[in-house]
Amino acid sequence: MDQGWGIRGDSVTCLAVVALSLAIALPASSQDVYDLLLKGGHVIDPKNKRNERLDIAISGGKVRKVARGIPTAHGRRVVDLSDYYVTPGLIDIHAHFNSEGDAHSLNPDHNALRNGVTTAVDAGSSGWKTFEQFKRKVIDHSKTRILAWVNIVGPGMAGGKIENDPAQMDSEAAASVALKYPQIIVGIKTAHFQPATWEAVDRAVKAAELSKTIVMVDFQNKPGRGYRELILEHMRPGDIHTHVYARGIPQLDAQKKVQSYMLEARRRGVLFDVGHGAGSLWFRIAVPAIQQGFLPDTLSTDLHKRSIMLPRSTMNNVMSKFLAMGLTLDQVIERSTINPAKAIRRPELGSIEEGGAADIAVLEVRKGQFAFLDSGHAKLTADKEIRCVLTVRNGEVVWDSEGLSRTDWRDAGPYSNFK
Ligand SMILES: [Zn+2]
Repeated sequence: MDQGWGIRGDSVTCLAVVALSLAIALPASSQDVYDLLLKGGHVIDPKNKRNERLDIAISGGKVRKVARGIPTAHGRRVVDLSDYYVTPGLIDIHAHFNSEGDAHSLNPDHNALRNGVTTAVDAGSSGWKTFEQFKRKVIDHSKTRILAWVNIVGPGMAGGKIENDPAQMDSEAAASVALKYPQIIVGIKTAHFQPATWEAVDRAVKAAELSKTIVMVDFQNKPGRGYRELILEHMRPGDIHTHVYARGIPQLDAQKKVQSYMLEARRRGVLFDVGHGAGSLWFRIAVPAIQQGFLPDTLSTDLHKRSIMLPRSTMNNVMSKFLAMGLTLDQVIERSTINPAKAIRRPELGSIEEGGAADIAVLEVRKGQFAFLDSGHAKLTADKEIRCVLTVRNGEVVWDSEGLSRTDWRDAGPYSNFK
């Protein structure tokens, strides 16, 4: 570099000085200076069919521009993402984040944002009697956008005795809470119901009909209350069966072939969600189903205090497991962004839109040797792993494991620079 300056001589130096002074004299107009400029990442945004290197300019919590070659000078903070994938903020439609209200939930921000999840839907931890307390104590104070399935059981997931009591299941009351909070409540959840009757499912569907929402069903197949009947007769198009690869759900026949009623239910519009959890993702079920082309509509974690331990059902691990089971990266991203947004009827989420909320996940696909555990005490080895390195929520960097958005401490200047 020094030698080049010397050889070129004064005229080149002079030109450089002119260019520099022009740059100082003609800064980007204040309209074009963005709070945050994400440069050169490989953007995968399935809704907008983007799959290329692009820059994303963010100001005031919103995406302002998605384009190639936005000048570095136009960013107050510029982050080089040329080694990473950039996706819409991830959406986890089955998690347990009522951290103030029950024994199994986790803190949303600590567990969602570090996995690139900017929108999480709590799946019935609270019911129509307890939702407002959940909202007050957790939802209103979280950086993560928290939406909710409200449980058809009044007190929510409050243990077997209460969750098995039809007297706690009030369709009108659940519907009225859903109608009161349409910005937060996406639908009605039913789960853990043991008696071999249809009361829980049918009352949840009734509440969804009354509130013009959908249901998420966690189901146990029992004699006299069959899964086939559930997905072909009781659930409606748009309703979601979570735990699709769980033991106890007859998705496969004795020869491990996907049952024809699974395909028929999919044709009639029933959606199938992963809901990994502590007990509901079995590789020995999911792998043959995927090999036969029966992919889940949405990936989700069913993250709670137990599922985060041995099976490590975090969003990044769920994505990594499905990548290892044969989905492409695009299919994995689609099922973690726009598909869940459509499933919960929030089409404004799950994509990167100019003028839309700046919710972004930056992902690394690491190569190496990895092992993933399922809910059936089995493991799957893989040569890739998906890991979130940076999360932007509402335009703010809220997770940055590699310090990509930060200055080296030696260049950070005096304390007074600290903002
Ligand atoms: Zn759950």
